Amino acid sequence: ARDVTEQRRGQEMLMAALEKERTAVERLKALDQAKNEFVSTVSHELRTPVTSIVGYTEMLSDGSIVDPLPEQQVMFDTIARNGQRLITLCNDLLMLAGLDSGSVTWKAEDVDLGDVLKLVEEWATPLVAGRSLDVRFEHPTRPLVVVGDGAQIERVLSNLVANAVKCTEHGYVRVDTTVDDDHAVIRVSDSGMGIPLDEQDHVFQRFFRTSNAEKKAVQGTGLGLAIVASIVEAHGGTVALQSEVDHGATFTVSLPLKR
Ligand code: ADP
Repeated sequence: ARDVTEQRRGQEMLMAALEKERTAVERLKALDQAKNEFVSTVSHELRTPVTSIVGYTEMLSDGSIVDPLPEQQVMFDTIARNGQRLITLCNDLLMLAGLDSGSVTWKAEDVDLGDVLKLVEEWATPLVAGRSLDVRFEHPTRPLVVVGDGAQIERVLSNLVANAVKCTEHGYVRVDTTVDDDHAVIRVSDSGMGIPLDEQDHVFQRFFRTSNAEKKAVQGTGLGLAIVASIVEAHGGTVALQSEVDHGATFTVSLPLKR
């Protein structure tokens, strides 16, 4: 009887080992598939601006434009815009790769959010030049210090402001700061196109673009908010979203204040 029990136990161990191997293989397959999808999305994102740059460069150099100047200017502008898009895309991909591999080095300095917001406001001003959009920053009235990487926190806030500006045709974009217990809370709200309820859980995923952004041809790669979420998380904070389609969106970033 003991032989039978041992034989059965041996069989069970073998089955468990096989099962473990099978799930490991399935996990690797899923990872491989995710990687393939990632490579194919990135290649597509790279191909679009490169195709435009190459096409216009060829037209500019083959002498096929009869009435050169105004047409040329449009082409140069398109080339510059697409070149800029490629630079942003490469920077975002490098940042995500760094976040994944853990090779991003974070500074741990005292960062006054008021100083960061001033920089973001300066940076945002030319974005809205010539548009009837009311962009208002309510600056904190006392120092709000968090410990972290100032440049990365600036990246978070400028990203949110840039999104708000490009997703809002009329109305306002507001940035304000409050304190909730031991956290600084920065809100970036707008009166723009908003995000459909069933897509709100996905906007922090890489390459996710909302259906209304696609429909209205709002430019973007879908990487910005994924980076925002990673940076905020690395600082021990949270980022939340509230939105209603056609009534705007509010992104709320909460960061632990320095004790
Ligand atoms: P993108 O580079 O495409 O803007 P993000 O990751 O920053 O990528 O944003 C993800 C999606 O969420 C995009 O489709 C973007 O248009 C949408 N989105 C981001 N911010 C807002 C906002 N304030 N209002 C409406 N849609 C937004």
